[in-house]
Amino acid sequence: MRYLFDPQEIFSIPVKGEEATYPVRRIFCVGRNYAAHAAEMGGEVDREAPWYFTKSVAHAVLSGAALSYPPGTANYHHEMELAFVIGAEAFEATEAEAAAAVFAYGSALDMTRRDRQQDGKDHRRPWSLGKDVEGSAVFAEMTRVAEFTISDQEIALCVNGDQRQRGSLRDMVWSPTEIVMHLSKFYHLGLGDVVMTGTPSGVGAVVAGDTVHGTIDGLAPVELALMVTKS
Ligand code: MN
Repeated sequence: MRYLFDPQEIFSIPVKGEEATYPVRRIFCVGRNYAAHAAEMGGEVDREAPWYFTKSVAHAVLSGAALSYPPGTANYHHEMELAFVIGAEAFEATEAEAAAAVFAYGSALDMTRRDRQQDGKDHRRPWSLGKDVEGSAVFAEMTRVAEFTISDQEIALCVNGDQRQRGSLRDMVWSPTEIVMHLSKFYHLGLGDVVMTGTPSGVGAVVAGDTVHGTIDGLAPVELALMVTKS
């Protein structure tokens, strides 16, 4: 096969202890998975079922990236999240199949143009301009499930060393297993699929020059620097 131009390199995430990396094909994001964050957004958690939006793989970057403040916003927000990646095919998965399909966990950032997301809510339009932002899906090294079990680990985020977000993984409304069971009713999940599981409360704006540092106890931290210079 000859292409008219060189295709983009495949984005992949390092996995602790592995020489090989995890190549990504799709990024699913769960909305409102912590009650305290749902409340600060003026809403409630939907306990009937989780719901989703997506981000383009082309907009993913690895932890440690230094990016310009994005265009088209005056209110760019940090959202610190637990991400997981899929390691087996899962379609209409049972609980056991869903649990077995989770391959590794990692720290991630769901950076958001909050003003553009609000436009979408106000006008009943899609959230793409708010959520599918260039450089807005930031992923740290993953840790395989054999080395990390979700319990009450702290999930937190600092901007320039000041803590802004702090929560506990125990406060997630929908667990990774429940998310896979539900999401696999709509998609043939499989290798290359990444899920971001929602953010705890304390989201807020960043500005050019800020450094964002997110942590989950037991996992590698995720970092993003917003450069003062434009590009
Ligand atoms: Mn989010």
